[in-house]
Amino acid sequence: MAKIIIAGAGFAGHYAALILQDSLKKLDNNHQITVVSRVNKFTYIPSLVWVGVGDMEVKDVQFPLKPVYDRLDIDFVHGALTEVYPDDNQVKVELLEDTKADKKLSYDFLLIATGPYLNFEATPGLGVEKGFTASICSPPHAVDAYKRYISTLDRVLKGDKVKIVVGTGHGTATCQGAAFEYICNIHNDLVRKGIRDKVELLWLSNEPALGDFGIDGLEVKKGNDIFTSQMLVDALFDEYNINYEIRSHVHKIDEKKIYTENVEGEFKEINYDFAMLIPPFKAQPIKFVNKDGEDITEKVCNPAGFIKVDANYGKPYEELDGPDWPRYYQNPTYKNIFSAGIAFAPPGPLSKPSKSPNGTLISPAPPRTGYTAELSGKAAALNIVEMIKGNDPIHSASMAETPGLCVASLKKSIFTGEAVTIAIYPVARNYSKYPEFGRDLQMCAAEIGMAGAWFKFFLHYAFMYKLQAKPGWKFIP
Ligand SMILES: Cc1cc2nc3c(=O)[nH]c(=O)nc-3n(C[C@H](O)[C@H](O)[C@H](O)COP(=O)(O)OP(=O)(O)OC[C@H]3O[C@@H](n4cnc5c(N)ncnc54)[C@H](O)[C@@H]3O)c2cc1C
Repeated sequence: MAKIIIAGAGFAGHYAALILQDSLKKLDNNHQITVVSRVNKFTYIPSLVWVGVGDMEVKDVQFPLKPVYDRLDIDFVHGALTEVYPDDNQVKVELLEDTKADKKLSYDFLLIATGPYLNFEATPGLGVEKGFTASICSPPHAVDAYKRYISTLDRVLKGDKVKIVVGTGHGTATCQGAAFEYICNIHNDLVRKGIRDKVELLWLSNEPALGDFGIDGLEVKKGNDIFTSQMLVDALFDEYNINYEIRSHVHKIDEKKIYTENVEGEFKEINYDFAMLIPPFKAQPIKFVNKDGEDITEKVCNPAGFIKVDANYGKPYEELDGPDWPRYYQNPTYKNIFSAGIAFAPPGPLSKPSKSPNGTLISPAPPRTGYTAELSGKAAALNIVEMIKGNDPIHSASMAETPGLCVASLKKSIFTGEAVTIAIYPVARNYSKYPEFGRDLQMCAAEIGMAGAWFKFFLHYAFMYKLQAKPGWKFIP
């Protein structure tokens, strides 16, 4: 019998638990899966964009995990993984509820899928609790963002003109796509309310170019012409009358101003009334301790705390290519430890990094989106099954070999909705396979339209259904 612990129940960890349970029940032995999660609900994070603009309620983006796990015979521990003792195959869990679980749990295989730590502390004044800006990265944050947004609009109704700033709150932040959706939804909400002319909208981001989205942008072939995501976003911002400041690092925020430095080394002060800025991510604080009691976190993780897997680390951006991205999500030192989703350490950025003349790094971190998180969680789960069977890992889900699908909502409405649908293959450019662009342009697409808005609705309900392991869930990709 093998004991498998999965830490984190987001896209990567929760989906891995479902795949693992489904695969292991076909084997003879009675294996035990335990999911340890800091939060006892699953959140469909992409729809937090709609919560932040008041178009959806939090209860519609969450479901409780325990009933799903009870039905599937998966143990659930509501707690946070704090320490790993890889030589003894044990973990320490801080319990968050009165449960019967021990504080120390033993494992044969460990999958760490604990997502990001929202590092608001990296920029003074950034963030919800201690700063001045909003976030849509968690359910309470999205609810708070909506309250701040509405109270800003109250001022407009009293006759004020206001400025709303949306984007990234640090030179190394990622998740530009979510912020892009938010600013577009705000634009359309203001149009719907008839007050768009009273609000100035500014896109503030660390991207090297408009439409970069932290994935080095996108090229699409139409006939003999090549269109780029930069052209698409440029045209959309023009139509929506959204101003932009890109290639910018935010180094300080106070009640009235956002202080930035751009790639050219210029320092700027931006006035704002309401700002939603995505923080940079670092890993959740998990300590690794060896059999002698020594802290070996630096050996197992990269400097930001993300778990090292089977990637080629240490190459400069210019030399990084498809084969350097991890395939099996297995830690090279401890082969029974895997990591998936945002928790694994990528080998480098996807977008071109820059430094200002003052030495400030302006380099979007690579996004590991929901779909990538699921694919890596699935690969890790299936590789654990292989190892239980006595085989080596064989299931690959490299970001340089898998597609990305992103549907960015612009406006939520069945009848007048709009979205940008982006398909990309592969996510990480792979010049050894596709020498010209690093991608197969036949498989890349970007379209704006109502069909995308319907697809976005469909994705929300399909994922909420699939991830509750309801009948037929396995057939939903
Ligand atoms: C507003 C927004 C919109 C987005 N929209 C899209 C989109 O449209 N499409 C898309 O593909 N992606 C989207 N993303 C990105 C997507 O949400 C992430 O890629 C995805 O959530 C990553 O999954 P994950 O499992 O790695 O991490 P998470 O989903 O963050 O899950 C990690 C889980 O681990 C738990 N945890 C943390 N620490 C511990 C610990 N120590 N012990 C135990 N549990 C712990 C957390 O509570 C959480 O439940 C969006 C992100 C945001 C913020």
